[in-house]
Amino acid sequence: MSTLLPATDALVVGGGIAGLQTALDLADQGYQVTIVEREPSIGGAMIGLSKVFPTLDCASCITTPKMAAAAHHEGITLLTYTGIDSISRNGATFSVRLTKKPRFVREDLCIGCRLCEYACPSIVPDQFQGGYSGHRAIHIPFSNAIPQTARVDDNYCTLCGQCVAVCPTDAVDFEQKPKQLEVQAKTIIDATGWRLTPIDAKPQYHGDTIANVISPLQMERLLAPHGPFGRVLRPADGKVPESIAYVQCAGSRDATLGVPYCSRVCCMYAIKQAMLLSGAVPLADITIYYMDIRAFGKGFEEFYQNAKAMGIEFIKGKVARITENPDRSIMVRFERIDEFGQVEERRHDMVVLSLGMLPGDNLHPLLPIQIGKDGFVLVPHAKEAPCHTGVDGVFVAGTTTGPKDIVDTIVEAGAAASEAAMYLKEIGGDPRPSEGNES
Ligand SMILES: Cc1cc2nc3c(=O)[nH]c(=O)nc-3n(C[C@H](O)[C@H](O)[C@H](O)COP(=O)(O)OP(=O)(O)OC[C@H]3O[C@@H](n4cnc5c(N)ncnc54)[C@H](O)[C@@H]3O)c2cc1C
Repeated sequence: MSTLLPATDALVVGGGIAGLQTALDLADQGYQVTIVEREPSIGGAMIGLSKVFPTLDCASCITTPKMAAAAHHEGITLLTYTGIDSISRNGATFSVRLTKKPRFVREDLCIGCRLCEYACPSIVPDQFQGGYSGHRAIHIPFSNAIPQTARVDDNYCTLCGQCVAVCPTDAVDFEQKPKQLEVQAKTIIDATGWRLTPIDAKPQYHGDTIANVISPLQMERLLAPHGPFGRVLRPADGKVPESIAYVQCAGSRDATLGVPYCSRVCCMYAIKQAMLLSGAVPLADITIYYMDIRAFGKGFEEFYQNAKAMGIEFIKGKVARITENPDRSIMVRFERIDEFGQVEERRHDMVVLSLGMLPGDNLHPLLPIQIGKDGFVLVPHAKEAPCHTGVDGVFVAGTTTGPKDIVDTIVEAGAAASEAAMYLKEIGGDPRPSEGNES
């Protein structure tokens, strides 16, 4: 038996930066918006980044206010830790069935005091911190998560009852079950985003077996002010790295991986991280192995030139193999594709694989929207309606249509909101006075 939620004008699927911006733009025009996010917190990938290219602004200083604005907007309802089961359509109304997963903590009672976390004896690898530190089995996902509601990881909970004993509001509820919900919406915006190429995509790089070969999102956390170690250390043994290498196109522009396209952000995030590392570990040598540098956006070329001027070494070469030495340093074997052309090997303390962006879990299985050969949502008339999926009332925002940076994501989110608002006006859905419905 499902609970029918108040009807909404727009259902935004995905609470990353694209979904948040679309929701805020629509809600500011007076529309009722519901955001459905499958994770326990909104924020998407951006909330886990350290700083952003090309301005080096703090990522969470941009994301957190948008998360808070969405959470406090009287026209926005947040449904976190919630997945979509089915979507059906009757005329201009979509009926969406959802399942809210149990946190084993009541959202209406939890005050985010973290007393449960301090009492819990079970430690779980913290995936938000790249797996490099731990959190308790009951925990708030990360310090600026929204909502600030604890969740029990039932894979690690020993049912010791310590959290129940200390909770001042009796919010812990081990009897909680998945909750079936239903909501009716006039328009749907798919902002489900992207996922990273798996770190073991190229077996010759041994990203899954060598601890000092890491993903770029793990490096984002090492560089973040509230990262797992508070500074950049080599994950395998805590050594301060003296030499760090980036391997570009480790997950893109490779037909053998099924990813022939360029992921558009890897050159710039690698250069950004290299610049940040120059500050964080000033004595370290930083090398970027690349095929071409694609610095296509505003200010990007200058950013690249600044990185070169800072002493970051760029080697035009293809990395063939990565292996580990007994002292846990890394050997990178590469073929120069510059005027020298020879095969060489170099030793580094750590290697970051510049992995690419793959399509996320978009709404294609639930709606008759089209998918391109690359797996991202296809927009049939991109030049006329860049955010319209071709299905009446269904729009798309951000990296759901393909790899892009944050600026382009936010621009596209604004466009999706305005296309959705025009559609709502056409079907007679004028903005309504807010009902302030909160889940
Ligand atoms: C290592 C790295 C560093 C980067 N650094 C920068 C940078 O410095 N500057 C820059 O401009 N760009 C950078 N980027 C790119 C940036 O991360 C993206 O532009 C941005 O994350 C796109 O946001 P989004 O909202 O489209 O997607 P996402 O951030 O992926 O958000 C999608 C949201 O939807 C949710 N979701 C997915 N499927 C479902 C579903 N079925 N139901 C409900 N919810 C769902 C997800 O949980 C997520 O919260 C970087 C990328 C990488 C890989």
